[in-house]
Amino acid sequence: MVRGHPEVNLLNEPKETLASTLSWAEDEVFKYIIDIIENNGIRLYWQVKDISPNITHQFTIYRGIDRDGDLADWTELTTIADTWTYLDNTISLSAPFPDIVYRIKLSLHNREHTSDLVYLYGGLNPHQRNLAKAILRKLKLCQRHLPVLKGYLLKRKHTGTLCTCRDPVTKEVLNSDCQECFGTGFISGYYLQATPATLIATGPVSTIPIHDPKGQLGTVTATATQAKIAGLPPIFPYDVWVQSETNRRYYITVVKISAEISGLPLQYDVVLKMANYNDVIYQYPIEIGQ
Ligand SMILES: [Zn+2]
Repeated sequence: MVRGHPEVNLLNEPKETLASTLSWAEDEVFKYIIDIIENNGIRLYWQVKDISPNITHQFTIYRGIDRDGDLADWTELTTIADTWTYLDNTISLSAPFPDIVYRIKLSLHNREHTSDLVYLYGGLNPHQRNLAKAILRKLKLCQRHLPVLKGYLLKRKHTGTLCTCRDPVTKEVLNSDCQECFGTGFISGYYLQATPATLIATGPVSTIPIHDPKGQLGTVTATATQAKIAGLPPIFPYDVWVQSETNRRYYITVVKISAEISGLPLQYDVVLKMANYNDVIYQYPIEIGQ
């Protein structure tokens, strides 16, 4: 049954198949930081390791120029809290491959941590970057022969303020229906801003009617489906995908990289399980991020 936190024991996180690949700007605090060019600016994504739980993370974003290894002109862009993404739309992208670097400062309990330098597309060379952009763009366009499903990605929290529904000793989530953490064990459960994410269904989008003898649920449907999805933003098991047309919500249970360039994932094959209609995830409010 997929409910709250699907088959997940927080003390025993699923082996993340991407861990070895996502090494951009990885250090003792950040699991990864990646930035890509979007239509209206440069988009950063990051994930903090669960090293300093129970605080609200504050991120200060800096942008610099790297001219032949000479770093100069650092600009402080913003300080934001409790998020995993930022769009830098204050820069005009006149050159196709701007020499732009970022770094992120994170305030922890009693110290500050500044990340390594973050290069566009993980430092791919211009040829590789063109290729990466073309593949990512193609995935967002309609594929003639396969169903394309529009929706949103909810990014699951793996760190942050601990929820009171956890067992104080074992830290296990005791209530998978908890409306404070949505079964994740961290307050609010997912990052607030949902990111547009289009799926290309490759497996049957079948609905399997289940008879409920106690009549509590009526006739429900359980579905699992396979799909392709763009490799950026990075996706991890137990992130949630919401189909915009139907508001159906799916837990992403399997993530496999099916296309990459120099370790930059461009396409995933994923397996999604539809959440039961009474799953707490349906109560999560969708706010569309910028
Ligand atoms: Zn909780």
